[in-house]
Amino acid sequence: MSELEFIKGIGNSTVSKLNKLDIYSVEDLITYYPYRYEILKKTSLEDEHSVVTGKIESTPTISYFGKSKNRLNFKININDYLINVTIFNRGYLKNNLVIGKTITIIGKYDKEKNTFNASDIKLEDIGDKTNINPIYHKVKGLTDKNLNKYINLALQAGYVIDYIPNQITDKYHFMSKKDALNLIHNPSNNIKLKEALIRSKYEELFLFMLKINELKNKNNIKNIGYSKNIDLDKIQSFIKTLPFSLTEDQEITLDEIFDDLKSEKRMNRLVQGDVGSGKTIVAIISMYAMHLNNYQSALMAPTEILAHQHYENMIKLFKDYDINIKEILGSTPKKEKEVIYEELKQGKIDMIIGTHALLQEQIEFNNLGLVITDEQHRFGVNQRTNLRNKGNLPDVLYLSATPIPRTYALTIYGDMDISIIRSKPQGRKEIITLVKDNSEITDVLTKIKNELDLGHQVYIVSPLIENDESDDEDIIKLERKFKLAFKNKNIGIMHGKMTPSEKDDIMKKYQNKEIDILISTTVIEVGVDVKNATMIVIFDAYKFGLATLHQLRGRVGRNDLQSYCILVTNRETKRLDIMKEVSDGFVLAEEDFKLRGSGDLFGTKQHGDMKFKIANLTKDYDILLKAKEDSGIILEEIDNYPLLKGILKDSINKD
Ligand code: ADP
Ligand code: MG
Repeated sequence: MSELEFIKGIGNSTVSKLNKLDIYSVEDLITYYPYRYEILKKTSLEDEHSVVTGKIESTPTISYFGKSKNRLNFKININDYLINVTIFNRGYLKNNLVIGKTITIIGKYDKEKNTFNASDIKLEDIGDKTNINPIYHKVKGLTDKNLNKYINLALQAGYVIDYIPNQITDKYHFMSKKDALNLIHNPSNNIKLKEALIRSKYEELFLFMLKINELKNKNNIKNIGYSKNIDLDKIQSFIKTLPFSLTEDQEITLDEIFDDLKSEKRMNRLVQGDVGSGKTIVAIISMYAMHLNNYQSALMAPTEILAHQHYENMIKLFKDYDINIKEILGSTPKKEKEVIYEELKQGKIDMIIGTHALLQEQIEFNNLGLVITDEQHRFGVNQRTNLRNKGNLPDVLYLSATPIPRTYALTIYGDMDISIIRSKPQGRKEIITLVKDNSEITDVLTKIKNELDLGHQVYIVSPLIENDESDDEDIIKLERKFKLAFKNKNIGIMHGKMTPSEKDDIMKKYQNKEIDILISTTVIEVGVDVKNATMIVIFDAYKFGLATLHQLRGRVGRNDLQSYCILVTNRETKRLDIMKEVSDGFVLAEEDFKLRGSGDLFGTKQHGDMKFKIANLTKDYDILLKAKEDSGIILEEIDNYPLLKGILKDSINKD
């Protein structure tokens, strides 16, 4: 039984609907914030957008058309005028619209036709004051009204834990948490609502920054590690075996890493570099430097495809070296895993590459000296600590393809030093980005054919695996179409429902040019590196955010061949225009900050503790800065705040 069922008025069928919204506890429910407010005030019938109240004069008639569309028609009496009302897709309201009932209609009045085209209907007289109605994200079977009712029941039941310490509440004259939540869910006026929102945002950001500050403190306390020797000669001769010379930013970043390794201070460094800027080789060289000190090192990647790619890459790079490199994935057979555990413990393995399988408790190292997390933004703050805590005070390096503006980086990655790789390897041509309407598909196919004729490979991306409901493309439909259009080409598909080894198999074939056209969902988004792929075509591109589009585009243009990114869409959006204009991830990130209405940082997966329910790191940056400062002060005397201490313990003190 869920604690939600203890609330009078909430039964188990409601609980299961609430669960679909990720609401499991009372706290979840009362902090299920509206994502916007609808503001309604009566107007005259003549207004461009009118809100008027009247009495129903005729039983609605309903007509059905299209796949699942319907239209209601009825007559209403407004100040003794009889007016026709039309509304689309509200068939379910028919039985509520009975003759004599007073309702409020919202929409536009067409005087000539004497018809009111309603966009919404309220089944009541909304009165003469301004109505501010909370609008929530919902699932089937829940309306704004009943969600709001459940939230209020929970609020009345009296369970509200306030996390903000009194001294801060006093400092900012915050209202109580209960009052704030009451106002947010039942707003009466705008000014009070604003105060309530600020208070709730503050609380969320305060708790977040408390964790970040705690991480930073812990790093400082455990700051003393071991100083390592940097054998530049050997490192240089390894670098000479690479098929390219390092970019200036790669060299600067390596110098910064070497300085960290040489010092007794433990390294805790984030390397930020745009897609394709060459972060991997920096990681690998650092691992080699560690190996020269007889330390083990670990490299963790967010997907099996990527982990395996790193592994193969390293096997190649170190083929003439006596270095024992292994990989461990979720799909690695148990027997093999056990051998790896044993060899890690005995120090027989020098470098290990894996997914979060590496975080498993059984894994012990002999002398782990360096831990690297690739695509760090895919992991949460909590996971930052886990690998750090393995081994004997290892140095820690994070790689991230998420270029976030420096001020934000300093805040949310406030516990780390930061290196930036901005320059791309020499000879890279700018990827040509085109936006094409669905109707221009033959043109797109010609462009694909041109690339294939040059012996290059192509990625095709669709947001969906399979859907029958709409005309949107999906992997299965696209596979059929491409097989027809390119009869003599090899076509492969890949998506998240395949097992890791199936995906790996496909990637291998693509890598070996046994597949010409790879049709995939965004599972290829992260890190995948196939140099001969020169074109990526993204269907229904309007469905993706800037960060994802940029990551997907980064799958091509990975050597000196001219590459293309084609965004196919039946809806033009600002985002797609920006993609056409801007290729620099750092600039895109700034644009993304300007555009985003809600929540997360550019490309940062909404991962557990990085997920904000009400705060927005961009818009609420000022609140964030205050929360940062305050949480630092509270942290100094955390023993006086057992509630907060408990939270920190639960979330990050897992060592
Ligand atoms: P990302 O920063 O996106 O992780 P990778 O590390 O995968 O990028 O590098 C992208 C590609 O560029 C790889 O094929 C890599 O071998 C190559 N590369 C890395 N550094 C250089 C360089 N200095 N010159 C030329 N190619 C490079
Ligand atoms: Mg990478």
